[in-house]
Order: sequence, then C-alpha cells, then structure tokens
Amino acid sequence: GAPILLHVVLASSATYTTPPVVLLLGPSQAGKTALATLLERAGSDNAAVVDGSGGGGGGSSSTSPILAPAQTHTSQTCQAVELNASTDSATRKSFRNRDDASGTHTKFLLVDTPGHGKLRNVAMGRLARATGAAADKSSSGSSNNSKKLKAVVFMVDAAAVGEHDALAPTAAYLYDVLLHLQRRASSSSSSRGKGGAVPVLIAANKMDLFTALPATMVKAQLEAELTRIRATRSKGLLDSGVGIDDVGGAGEDDQDCWLGEYGSEKFSFQQMGEFDIDVEVIGGSVTAEADVDKWWWWIAQRV
Ligand code: GDP
Repeated sequence: GAPILLHVVLASSATYTTPPVVLLLGPSQAGKTALATLLERAGSDNAAVVDGSGGGGGGSSSTSPILAPAQTHTSQTCQAVELNASTDSATRKSFRNRDDASGTHTKFLLVDTPGHGKLRNVAMGRLARATGAAADKSSSGSSNNSKKLKAVVFMVDAAAVGEHDALAPTAAYLYDVLLHLQRRASSSSSSRGKGGAVPVLIAANKMDLFTALPATMVKAQLEAELTRIRATRSKGLLDSGVGIDDVGGAGEDDQDCWLGEYGSEKFSFQQMGEFDIDVEVIGGSVTAEADVDKWWWWIAQRV
C-alpha cells in the first residue's frame, strides 16, 4: 500500500511543474520552424520535442526531431522545444541553449505554431489556452496556465512585408494576436489586478536578404497597416447595423475591437503600453550567418 501511494503522490505533483511558455506565432514561411530548430540544436544534448498539444492527426515522423532537417513542418499541431535561457550577461552575445549545471538558467518551452491561414484557429487556440481565456470556467487551471505564458514572439519575413500582398495578412494576424492580449490585459486589470500582460517581440526575420526592410521600416509598415485594419474593422461595426442609437452597447463593442488608444488617428505599438503590453521590433536572421542573439536575449529576460 504505502510505497504505491507515495509513488502516486510524487507522480501527480510532478505534473504541476511545467516550465514557462513562450509562444512563437506568425504567418507561414516567416521562419518560425527554422528558429525553433536552430535554438533546439544549439549546444544542448537533451533538448527534445516534448509537446504535441493542439490536436491529433498531424503527420508524425519516426525520425528524431533533433536529427530531422530544418524545414517547414506542415504539421497541424503545435510543436514545443524545451530550452534553457540564461540572463548571465556573459551569455548575452551567444544564443546557446544552456543546460549546464550552474543552475543559473531557466528552463522554458518555445511553442512553435502552424502559420498557415487555414490553421490559424490552431495557433489562436493555443494562445487562448495559454492566456487562460479558453478555460475561464475552471478558474484554477486557467490562472495556472496564464501565468505560464511569459512572452509572445511574432515572427515576420522582413523581405516580404514590403509587398502589400504579404503585409496585409501578416498585419491582420498580428491585429488578432494583439487584440486578444489587449482584451485579456484589460479584463485582468479590472478583475484580477495587474501583472498579467504578456510582452510581444516582433522578430523581423531574414535580414540577410538584401530585399529585407530594416526593423524600423518593418515597424512603420506594420503600424500603418494596423491603422488601416483598425479603421476598416470599426467601420465594419458601424455598418453592420449597430446603430449609434443603441447607446452603451455600440460604444462598448466598438471599443472592444479597437486596438490601442481608443479614438486615436494612427496606431502605434507604443499605445499597447496603455495595457501594459510591451511591443518591440527587433531584426535578425535564422539561416545563413544566424543572427538571433538579440531575440534570445529578449526571451531570456522574460522567462
Ligand atoms: P515557418 O512556416 O514560419 O515555420 O517558416 P520556416 O521555418 O519553414 O521557413 C520558411 C522558409 O524561409 C524556409 O525556406 C527557410 O529556409 C527560410 N528562412 C527562414 N529563416 C530565414 C532567414 O533568416 N533568412 C533567409 N534567407 N531565409 C530564411
């Protein structure tokens, strides 16, 4: 009796020690899988794919994920890699995934999500679960979950966002992500107190390409497009029959879909500060001469 009981207790307590989570979002072809693979391979023997959450049915391969080539996973699920970050400034210039015994590292999960438009619900569902929005009923579970999400890395292809064809869907996705975080931040600041806001890194990837826009331009392009989307969506609300006579309701709905400072003419990422959401745009590249140190450092400080 007793030894078995003890075993059960240990096993169940172990399930509560899940590491902090950083969600990797963004359109397909941005380089998300390439980044997750690069970081996973960088210096650690024990890094492994540890999570296939997000629904079954994805084509699981029998080869070890560590040995598999770095390429787009067309998997329909979220893939997580377990990484170790250190904020020891000696490591600042190196993105190595630490698993030394010094104890100064923080273990966390980087969760790669499918970027394809048709699978957007999978990625947004993962975000909703991570922020606890999907499980508001089971209060203990949701607050546990939401504390685990430390940051969102939204990856964009800096060589593609100069073209409106690529910019528009990228910004639309980003709008949904930021709006989700904004709603969550405003609901938690009113009911649960501060501290729930999740910072966002916009990783402007593929800086090695000569067609890539510099990070400041990527930022400006995204802000301009988010401004356009915001105007369109709020107009959509007015046009959809929600009359201005519906006092109260219309105003609240409108405000609920409005990203950033309400009523402002132009959107800027800085406006997310109103909701305690810190947004930074940092350039880098995954392939060729990999340049991911700044992203890694940003992440390391937030897990
Ligand atoms: P995902 O769909 O966001 O997971 O994107 P992938 O990781 O599959 O990358 C899409 C394509 O972009 C692949 O062909 C990568 O080799 C390429 N790629 C990723 N990062 C970079 C980069 O920094 N520079 C260049 N030139 N290509 C990259």
